[in-house]
Amino acid sequence: MQKTNRSISPSAFLAVAAIVLIGAAQVFRAQSGPAQPESKTTIVKSDAKKGTKMTDKVIKTDEEWRQILTPEQFQVTRKAGTERAFTGELLNNHEEGVYLCSDCGQELFSSDTKFDSGTGWPSFYAPLEAENVEEKSDSAYGMKRVEVMCSRCDAHLGHVFEDGPKPTGLRYCMNSVSLKFEAKK
Ligand code: FE
Repeated sequence: MQKTNRSISPSAFLAVAAIVLIGAAQVFRAQSGPAQPESKTTIVKSDAKKGTKMTDKVIKTDEEWRQILTPEQFQVTRKAGTERAFTGELLNNHEEGVYLCSDCGQELFSSDTKFDSGTGWPSFYAPLEAENVEEKSDSAYGMKRVEVMCSRCDAHLGHVFEDGPKPTGLRYCMNSVSLKFEAKK
């Protein structure tokens, strides 16, 4: 048998390689869908990898909140209202457990830090986790106060004052209606 010794010229090899690559790119594009949304998704993912804290923020319109909250919950938590003193269901609750955000269920306070402030609103000397609440200065009604909100859904919870008991000296003065109590099992 005669052996054939055919060599491929470099230019022919490049042409074949280019055809194979173009074909593969077309198949990939067909599988991965339109290019535009794909690249947007990638940007979000790469931001997360840089160490940006991913909060599972709960964002709803007023209309959506109205559908799941009582009128009083809506007025206090979404419109920064205040319930009347000594009317809240949780004011005199002394059970062991955790106080959750009424709107999104995030854990906010422990019964371990609850104390009787005599003000007529449930009071705590510290949040369960500092990052679970957000604090911002509030000058409504001519008073300089620090508003406390749920960090997950921005529900208005109440205010924090510097006349609390040890060990923090803080008094988180909360609306009962902004909280849901979950008894320790
Ligand atoms: Fe919340």
